[in-house]
Amino acid sequence: AEVTAIDRRAWGVAVRTADGLVVRARTLVNCAGLHCDRVARLAGDDPGVRIVPFRGEYYELARPELVRGLVYPVPDPAFPFLGVHLTRGFDGSVHLGPNAVPALAREGYGWPVVRPAELLSTLSWPGTWQIARKHWRYGAGEVHRSLSKSAFTQAVRRLLPAVREEDLRPSPAGVRAQAVLKDGTLLDDFLIREAPHTVHVLNAPSPAATACLPIGREVARRALRRAQETGWRPPAVESGHCV
Ligand SMILES: Cc1cc2nc3c(=O)[nH]c(=O)nc-3n(C[C@H](O)[C@H](O)[C@H](O)COP(=O)(O)OP(=O)(O)OC[C@H]3O[C@@H](n4cnc5c(N)ncnc54)[C@H](O)[C@@H]3O)c2cc1C
Repeated sequence: AEVTAIDRRAWGVAVRTADGLVVRARTLVNCAGLHCDRVARLAGDDPGVRIVPFRGEYYELARPELVRGLVYPVPDPAFPFLGVHLTRGFDGSVHLGPNAVPALAREGYGWPVVRPAELLSTLSWPGTWQIARKHWRYGAGEVHRSLSKSAFTQAVRRLLPAVREEDLRPSPAGVRAQAVLKDGTLLDDFLIREAPHTVHVLNAPSPAATACLPIGREVARRALRRAQETGWRPPAVESGHCV
């Protein structure tokens, strides 16, 4: 259920969810993805970043036999996004993408999804305007490739010359929870911040899904340390059993 309020107390935190449940804990781990900065603020912590949502759109290749493996472009170090690449899945299907276009809502999985309050929150962050100023040419190209299938096909042709426009079938999009600093820096590393009783995962870009186990271990280590500061001690373990 959606976390709607967080109350910080001397002993820990009380979290209220949209269905009226109240959960109490010594430590709160915030890994709310597209909403992690909002949840940090609910807890009374300044995240120091704003999540600026960037949608990544995909097409599926109608002739998957054209691609036998993974095909990547040389990354541009100026951007945290890799650019359109070709991914062959275990099931043999091939996906082309993702591009990177501004989403008009945090869960803006398509152009028609617009949430004015969320858009205002993005536009009121100085970093958003810095990105627009620095990367407007690249951004305009991405929007063009999003709105024009033939422009997208043209971009794919750099990696797969045999592809034709009719080979591209629309496929579901994802939205990146991109943390942006006030000065417009697009963070490309993981960012975990702590405060008393809280651990906030504020930037977990790709390859955070691939790296989820070590990231989870690191988050757990920090959460345990925070809990121990409140006097909590982990139960003694003997031969794999708690005693
Ligand atoms: C287009 C695209 C391509 C990607 N490709 C790759 C890739 O190839 N390899 C890779 O490793 N990674 C990839 N990623 C990145 C990967 O998806 C993320 O790194 C990963 O999902 C981050 O995990 P997370 O648990 O931090 O956040 P999320 O997976 O976003 O999970 C956040 C959760 O918090 C919940 N939540 C939000 N707000 C609240 C609230 N108020 N109360 C309660 N719950 C809340 C959400 O419902 C969600 O379940 C890609 C991402 C995108 C968008």
